[in-house]
Amino acid sequence: MPASFARIDLAAITDNVAAIAASTSAAVMAVVKADGYGHGAVSAARAALAGGASWLAVAFVDEALALRHAGIRAPLLALITRSGDDLDAAVAAGIDLGVGSLECLRAVAGRGARVHLEVDTGLSRGGARTEIWSKFFAAARDLDVVAVWSHFACSDEPGHPANARQLAAYHDALHVAKHHGITPSIRHLANSGATLTLPESHVDVVRPGIAIYGLSPGPGCERAVRDLGLRPAMTLRSEVGSVKRIPAGSGVSYGWAFTAAHATALALVPLGYADGIPRHAANSAQVAIAGRRFRIAGAVCMDQFMVELHDAPVGPGEEVLLFGPGTHGEPSASEWAAAAGTIGYEIVTRIGARVPRVYCRDGAAA
Ligand SMILES: *Cc1c(COP(=O)(O)O)cnc(C)c1O
Repeated sequence: MPASFARIDLAAITDNVAAIAASTSAAVMAVVKADGYGHGAVSAARAALAGGASWLAVAFVDEALALRHAGIRAPLLALITRSGDDLDAAVAAGIDLGVGSLECLRAVAGRGARVHLEVDTGLSRGGARTEIWSKFFAAARDLDVVAVWSHFACSDEPGHPANARQLAAYHDALHVAKHHGITPSIRHLANSGATLTLPESHVDVVRPGIAIYGLSPGPGCERAVRDLGLRPAMTLRSEVGSVKRIPAGSGVSYGWAFTAAHATALALVPLGYADGIPRHAANSAQVAIAGRRFRIAGAVCMDQFMVELHDAPVGPGEEVLLFGPGTHGEPSASEWAAAAGTIGYEIVTRIGARVPRVYCRDGAAA
């Protein structure tokens, strides 16, 4: 076993999807973009399908083609169609295409593509804006329109006024679509936040990403995540490299952002920002060693960081748990996110290519 690896509990993904599926009458489209939020796209996709997902979504056509090449046959949507994408390969591979502009509509027309029309209901990211809905739907009339969809801006904050406003705008868009003869076979707009806290947005298909990996979209959804019994699938572990004692007054790591207040001991952990450990977590994030918490001392380096041990009896080779489900006293990815001023999504998604993913099911090798 390598010293550092991300253990991925595929049973957690399967169980999380099953719990989500049981909580709604909508079908589940599991989002496995960005290498399955860092968990491994193919393995995450299979685990999600085993939990009852009937659709998969990724961001880009290339990601969708990779899933097809791995033998995954489930209905599959590439949310974002880019210029330069191999659209004929996508159509040949049975990949549905997200289309959110008139230019994109023109690019996909005449190729026999199955399209999901994206409407902008308030995120101001992808999707056709209200002003062009009539033109957009009229131009899509001869296409194979599978879905009309949208995306929330603030669904991680239950009760945020944007949520109801976007849902109403979405129904307006469906109305305009219908007026132009477009009645999609499915409607979808609920990401994890809306899946967890806004049931009226579920319509035909929900599109959870972060929740299937057992993390909350934000602090406002933590309780819903707990109530559904979702559990984090990724545990990031390493091993203590060396331990050294330093006298009071010693500066630690680049920039001496930490100075030992008294004689103390440091453990080196061989993971750094090149592995996705956020540099913003300097002096704040914690790890667990043998069930006890220790704080990062000083800057996170490219390949390693230090934690202050005080007088704890910790030696080289001991397991260091950076984050995970919390069953061995370790912090959650959400705690790391809070320490680094970011979101749990970024913590798991940025774990780098140097960190092997090791798959298990409920702790047993998979
Ligand atoms: C990433 C993404 C999702 C999943 O979002 P989560 O917040 O992770 O649930 C759903 N829909 C679209 C369009 C996305 O880009």
